[in-house]
Amino acid sequence: MKIGRIKIHQVGETYGIISPDGKRIITKLDFQEQTGVPIPQTIKEFIVRGWIDEVKKYLADINFSDKINSIDLLAPIPDPSKIICLAFNYYDHARDSGLTPSDEPVIFIKPRTTLNHPFNDIVCPYFVQRLDYEAELAVIIGKNTKNIEPKNASECIFGYTILHDVSARDIQFKDKQFTRGKSIDTFAPCGPWITTKDEINNPQNLQIVTKVNGEIRQNSSSSKMVISIEKIISSLSKVMTLEAGDIISTGTPAGVAMSMKEPKYLKNGDVVEITIENLGTIRNRITFA
Ligand code: MG
Repeated sequence: MKIGRIKIHQVGETYGIISPDGKRIITKLDFQEQTGVPIPQTIKEFIVRGWIDEVKKYLADINFSDKINSIDLLAPIPDPSKIICLAFNYYDHARDSGLTPSDEPVIFIKPRTTLNHPFNDIVCPYFVQRLDYEAELAVIIGKNTKNIEPKNASECIFGYTILHDVSARDIQFKDKQFTRGKSIDTFAPCGPWITTKDEINNPQNLQIVTKVNGEIRQNSSSSKMVISIEKIISSLSKVMTLEAGDIISTGTPAGVAMSMKEPKYLKNGDVVEITIENLGTIRNRITFA
């Protein structure tokens, strides 16, 4: 199932269920009208209260009444308790950066104020010189989890989405750590929706493609991840409680601008498009402010 947050004129922010082909959507209100089932007010409540199995019973019979391109899609979760991001978790990216990948997750946390919608502008402050893209497969946590073993880790996954870990390299290198350069408002476009885990046969084998103004920059696969999703979740859960709605972004593959001989950093007006197999596409324009 695909579930996304949306904004509708005169209704405001709500959510809906997207058709299997990704072309149509049924809003929460229309779903309730068609089925008589009072689903929760927000996606986060939908996740926390475990509504997925109940709703799936109706999917074959409902009429997805709106076209997806007539609706504004929003970042699927507006208020996660945390967005945890992995650094250097792809063999090809670590190699290009001249680093040996760690055997444990190296992480930083993006504040939720970085979250941006799947098709809105990334607004970059004027003082950033080296703006870079990072396409990432993100996991949405489905229930509160502490000290889980890798073999059981998939139990706490709700689904998957795309996260663009936009990065100001000049700040990152000046600070010698990640937080400030990756914490600028709008620097985490996310979406276009969440695809629940039952639709993704093998999350460790999804193609990941980034295009800048139509030119392919990253073309890799989540099969090149160093620490698997199950091991990431297990390892993190032994440090901190993972909460329903949390986002874990699993790192980026090779092809980012900073690894190029002559880095093609992002400029005003550039359009970055990220596609992950079976998860959809997000597309954001760069605006320097
Ligand atoms: Mg990253």
